[in-house]
Amino acid sequence: MIIQIPEKVNTVLETLKENGHEAYIVGGCVRDSVLGRIPKDWDITTSASPQEVKACFPRTVDTGLQHGTVTVILDGEGYEVTTYRVDGVYEDGRHPKEVHFTRSLEEDLRRRDFTINAMAYAPEKGLVDLFDGMGDIRRGLIRAVGEPAERFSEDALRMLRAVRFSARLNYEIEEKTYEAICRLAPALCRISAERIREELIGILLSDHPEKLSCAAACGLTAVFLPELDRCFETPQNNPHHCWNVGEHILRSVQAARADRILRLTMLFHDIGKPLCRTTDEQGIDHFHGHAEIGTEMTRQILRRLKFDNDTIDQVCRLVRYHDLQPEYTERAMRRAMVKVGPELFPLLLEVKAADLCAQSTCQAEEKQEALREWEALYEKVRESLCALSLKDLAVSGKDLIAEGISPGRQIGSILNTMLEDVLDHPEHNTREYLLTAYVRNENNA
Ligand code: ATP
Ligand code: MG
Repeated sequence: MIIQIPEKVNTVLETLKENGHEAYIVGGCVRDSVLGRIPKDWDITTSASPQEVKACFPRTVDTGLQHGTVTVILDGEGYEVTTYRVDGVYEDGRHPKEVHFTRSLEEDLRRRDFTINAMAYAPEKGLVDLFDGMGDIRRGLIRAVGEPAERFSEDALRMLRAVRFSARLNYEIEEKTYEAICRLAPALCRISAERIREELIGILLSDHPEKLSCAAACGLTAVFLPELDRCFETPQNNPHHCWNVGEHILRSVQAARADRILRLTMLFHDIGKPLCRTTDEQGIDHFHGHAEIGTEMTRQILRRLKFDNDTIDQVCRLVRYHDLQPEYTERAMRRAMVKVGPELFPLLLEVKAADLCAQSTCQAEEKQEALREWEALYEKVRESLCALSLKDLAVSGKDLIAEGISPGRQIGSILNTMLEDVLDHPEHNTREYLLTAYVRNENNA
């Protein structure tokens, strides 16, 4: 097995070796190289203490000295070098609360989470694979290093990481590892919302976000997203659907492009359904009001998971309007774009497309056709560059003041009235027309 290592990374390995230390690339970059994927970053592990590492290179940054990490700077680029270590309890994901350094590579590999993440490689030594990571790559398995229950008790986040790697690589979680997760899932409550959020995003943006169903099956979402569990318990006896709400949600996530806002929206677009389900005399289920209720639930959940306000705002708006069905006129399209936000509207079309992919074949052709019409209308309105917000109007607040309107509330209300007019009649968006119709006339009156 030969791994192509970037030249600079090789320089770091060589320099450490020339100074009498062991040095290997380790973890994610070895796994990804073996899989023929391009590694995100190249982590280096060494027998040298942080002080010894610093002594080997002219420029270093103390990134996390207490955890043994020094960043070596070569030609303006940083390379993380971490001393072999044995970990205490993990607190923030990457860094355990206390560590001690060791001169044994084996001990360092033993503290790592999964066999596929616990391989090291050096050009002259080849692959060091003490826990049969290669075998698990061949088998397509995520397997804890050592006793799974012990490893998950040290750091409960590893349970969600198992799902993330399984989603990224389309691997199964090995049986004993899976059983331990089922048993210890409630311990995930000790993990901070921020760390859970990052793993959730990792799962959602992976090639197999539908593996979130595994997080539900083993009790992990019960801790941080119980609302999703309710969805799996909610049938949809309705001609437009052929899966329960949870399955429909995950299929729609899978159908959506791997964009953060888009996939979060799909995850939450029907989250309100379990609370809105009614069954009529024919036995057909309805979910009236689920978009509104779902929007409020989404806001609460995203806040709980400490998402930023911008993300919350965008996802909530898309959830709120995911079922919006404007008439097939440019006028209606303009109004829909204003409602959703012109910049967000293209994503709404993608939301609708993904939603359709996860429904039954009932009227599928018609629904696809309707979507294509909206897409065409949207393009037309976008290209026409007509006004969709106050800033697009041919007159501004300043113009109104110059016309003798006193600054204050009245300005805003006049501008809004103008926008209302222009949305129905784009040709009215000229200075002359607007000032004549809404300012000068009134002054004269
Ligand atoms: P990614 O491509 O997502 O970065 P990665 O494997 O590099 O994947 P990181 O979170 O960057 O994952 O961690 C780097 C390495 O550190 C892992 O491969 C693993 O060996 C080890 N590691 C990270 N987090 C943990 C943890 N919570 N418990 C044990 N080992 C961990
Ligand atoms: Mg990494």
